[in-house]
Amino acid sequence: TIGMIAIDEQGHIAAGTSTNGASHKIPGRVGDSPIAGSGAYADSTIGGAAATGDGDVLMRFLPSFRAVLNMGRGMAPEIAAAEAIKNIALFYPDFSGAVVAADRNGNHGAACHGFAKFQYSVYAAGFSDVLVQDVNCQ
Ligand code: ASP
Repeated sequence: TIGMIAIDEQGHIAAGTSTNGASHKIPGRVGDSPIAGSGAYADSTIGGAAATGDGDVLMRFLPSFRAVLNMGRGMAPEIAAAEAIKNIALFYPDFSGAVVAADRNGNHGAACHGFAKFQYSVYAAGFSDVLVQDVNCQ
């Protein structure tokens, strides 16, 4: 899955995903990516989030919606994403997935579970190059 959060000059925030889905998926499987709140979610007054991983598990928990709500309650993006991931791991300790989150001020963070490391990229006006962030998974 490619997940994206974008903030424009006026502060509008959008989030979305593009995915080839799970390997060996059954015909008709939808997965988490196109489900608002699961694959991605944005609220311009708060921020945005996007998820990747075991979609059949992720879609039961709306982790992108949860991460945005968490930021709305004052959590930093990394903490907001970690809380959303932790909530899934509580029920599915063997799942693999990650959530990336950014608030309306451009602060960003991510959390992951089920693999060792996760990377995401950040770009903003004035950057000379894309910034690649490394995240150690929970
Ligand atoms: N979340 C996607 C799905 O389950 C797969 C992925 O993240 O690569 O359809």
